[in-house]
Amino acid sequence: ELSSNWLLRFSADIEQRYLRRLSIITELKVVLQSDQDELSLVYQPKISLKTRQVNGLEALIRWNSQRLGFIPPDEFIEIAEQAGFIEQVTDWVLNRVIADILTLRKHHIFVKPAVNLSTQDIQNKQLLERLIALLDDNKLTADDITLEITESDLVADANIAIANLQYLRDKGFSIAIDDFGTGYSSLAYLKHLPVSTIKIDKAFVLNLSTDTDDQQIVRTVLSLSTIFDLDVVAEGVEDADTMEILADWGCDTAQGYYISRPLPLNGLIDWLASSEY
Ligand code: C2E
Ligand code: CA
Ligand code: CA
Repeated sequence: ELSSNWLLRFSADIEQRYLRRLSIITELKVVLQSDQDELSLVYQPKISLKTRQVNGLEALIRWNSQRLGFIPPDEFIEIAEQAGFIEQVTDWVLNRVIADILTLRKHHIFVKPAVNLSTQDIQNKQLLERLIALLDDNKLTADDITLEITESDLVADANIAIANLQYLRDKGFSIAIDDFGTGYSSLAYLKHLPVSTIKIDKAFVLNLSTDTDDQQIVRTVLSLSTIFDLDVVAEGVEDADTMEILADWGCDTAQGYYISRPLPLNGLIDWLASSEY
């Protein structure tokens, strides 16, 4: 009796997850086709640990669904990847980021946003060509945007991915490897990739001021990145101690709640006008 109860709960759980997945797919596809305001971008500032000035932004997608409530990006991005329509999400993000760059320029703000590309995006040459055309149509260049890609993106078909990365580099984009340390890449392998920047995942940064294992890892990444001439961004900086440790160790850039949470465009414009950075 006990075990059949367990089984019932187990299958109910699977059914629930299946249904949620299905509604996310259906709803997201509708939202991408319509003009509803459910999707938005927020921007998190990055600061140089040398000049203590803002030196970049990260664009992060938000989905506040009328029918499903707030869905975290981690969840729906993965579902869109698996269901094969991440391309449409990325197109939406790229169009919005470019519109927002133009708005920022009207406010005389010239900080560069980074966008997150997904596993399939980096294999998708047509999408990359659309990005270049979109910049061009708006009189912008590869220099006006940074691309963040996770190392797992390179695993699916490493040859195509690396060729496309090289193509983007040749076009003048700066490329950051995201979530560094959580996946497969080693710094030795990075040497062969056409990237300029690594982002240390927040998993290694959140407890940096107290966790000696994390300190070892971060120090190693920083010293080797000097050898390979890579810029390093630390994400997940939540307190002053962590920020000062990273500055002492020569980390180039910091991003995290201690500096600012991700902000909607208007909030960002106000923040930039009033912050000490
Ligand atoms: P990510 O690219 O590693 O982005 C950093 C995440 O860390 C963001 O979560 C950000 O809000 C969060 N974060 C920033 N500072 C701190 C901090 O000090 N403490 C803590 N605890 N967290 C911090 P978010 O916005 O929920 O995004 C989660 C993931 O979803 C992103 O991780 C990225 O992989 C994906 N994602 C978000 N927006 C997009 C997008 O437009 N396109 C794609 N393909 N993926 C996206
Ligand atoms: Ca990122
Ligand atoms: Ca991360």
